[in-house]
Amino acid sequence: MGIYLDFNSSTPLDERVLEYMIYIYKNIVGNADSRTHEYGDNARKIVEEARTQVASILSVKKEEVFFTSGATESNNIAIQGLREYATVSGKKHIITSAIEHKAVLETAKALQKEGYDVDFVRPDRTGRIQADQIIRLLREDTLLVSLMHVNNETGIIQPVKELGDILDKREVLFHVDATQSFGKLVEELKQLKYNMLSLSSHKIGGPQGIGALILRRKRYKLPPVKGIMYGGQQEHGIRPGTIPVALVAGLGKACSIAELEYQTNYRKCMVIKKEVMQLLGESGISYEINGEPEFCVPGTLNICFPGVASEALMLSTKQYCGVSNGSACNSNSYKPSFVLEAMNIPTDKIESSIRISWGPQTQVDELAKLFGKMIKSAQKLAF
Ligand code: PMP
Repeated sequence: MGIYLDFNSSTPLDERVLEYMIYIYKNIVGNADSRTHEYGDNARKIVEEARTQVASILSVKKEEVFFTSGATESNNIAIQGLREYATVSGKKHIITSAIEHKAVLETAKALQKEGYDVDFVRPDRTGRIQADQIIRLLREDTLLVSLMHVNNETGIIQPVKELGDILDKREVLFHVDATQSFGKLVEELKQLKYNMLSLSSHKIGGPQGIGALILRRKRYKLPPVKGIMYGGQQEHGIRPGTIPVALVAGLGKACSIAELEYQTNYRKCMVIKKEVMQLLGESGISYEINGEPEFCVPGTLNICFPGVASEALMLSTKQYCGVSNGSACNSNSYKPSFVLEAMNIPTDKIESSIRISWGPQTQVDELAKLFGKMIKSAQKLAF
């Protein structure tokens, strides 16, 4: 199967997480919300321990952590869950960016159809939105600003820190989709000011199908978000449905591992990036990096090989390099990346771009050999 270089889509499950989850599946029976027996008590203890682990890596209170099925659901709740408040307050203006994940973009577009006024701010060629672009659009009736921390296609870090500092003093809710930075840019997230934050377990070595929405209290009050599904009172009604104990435990374990290892992981990812850049440089291939490298996280590169059709490159190298040319959530459509489009990159360059993303466990030797082969294939395909 070759080397896996698509960590931004999903990371391999950490062995230590898997072992713990197997232990939970074998030993913990019952529903974490059952109050009438010890089985329920034991399941609840596991869930609450995981809640503490998630809270710890973000420096938030455990009562501010609400488990969901993943970042798609967290984003939906953070935005759609404001409907009732928007109606009561009369605030129906939303500011977001044109490079958000579809879980934010499509949700914002759905509200637009319902009569909300939505601004989609575009980045420049650096792949970065400027905080000022958003601040200038703020109005009396602005309900929400939603901006991702790190873009999943380019790895470009967005100015959420600057925005958080400014928005903290305004009566506007601030939501951050931190799916690609959670467990990685740990210090930054601990210091960040926000009202709501989305995260997902499977981007940090945890299981798929679990994530969380963080709702920060301000003057003892949670943001005015309501659940978007009817059901029980699990997660205080923010996310009804039986809590998947082993998945939650896996997320918690992945957080506690990340909290111990994030600095080493950062350095390992930097070493790999240097190796990739060296391979590209030494090969003599013509290439461009999409997005300003200064703002890029250590585990991602979006590379354009001018004159090389990325679809052909990926298909012809599929057996030894698992890469992608955009978000897996959109990959059954062959449309050019909307993120690169929003950056004003010409279509022919977008169609010649691939995204590679890796993790601390990526083997440098294997990468040098197999990504090196991919570069050679690209050189052959270039016209
Ligand atoms: N937001 C971003 C920035 C992402 O990269 C992803 C995953 N591709 C999501 C949201 C959706 O996360 P999940 O798979 O947990 O629904």
